[in-house]
Amino acid sequence: MPAITCKRCGKLFRSVNRVICPECLEKEKQSYQTVEKYLRENPGATVAEIAQNTEVDEKVILKFIKEGRLKEVEVSVNLKCEACGKPIASGRLCPACMSKFSAGLNTAGSQNDKASALKKGMLSKRLKDEK
Ligand SMILES: [Zn+2]
Ligand SMILES: [Zn+2]
Repeated sequence: MPAITCKRCGKLFRSVNRVICPECLEKEKQSYQTVEKYLRENPGATVAEIAQNTEVDEKVILKFIKEGRLKEVEVSVNLKCEACGKPIASGRLCPACMSKFSAGLNTAGSQNDKASALKKGMLSKRLKDEK
């Protein structure tokens, strides 16, 4: 069996298809059970609430969600993408919008400035015409 470095604690262990050592696997299993139990007793709890009350790291909870392991329990995440309104786990934008925005950030910004300057100019012209 090949020796593998545990992704969580960095310890060397021997396994064929695992990325974390048996000790960490056991810890993760316990964390999962704690989170699942908490969610069953507190449906609709947010990730932050779960982390606070179970002392399980938020990152670990998010990992469970990403892996689809907390699927049967309704996890409501309070955060929404500011651009498209899709629920997101963290930050202000969903990954899709984030890449969209960072790609067109510079050009979009200057275009917006131009547009608002144009509007302002039109507005003052209209006001003058009305007088
Ligand atoms: Zn480990
Ligand atoms: Zn989005």
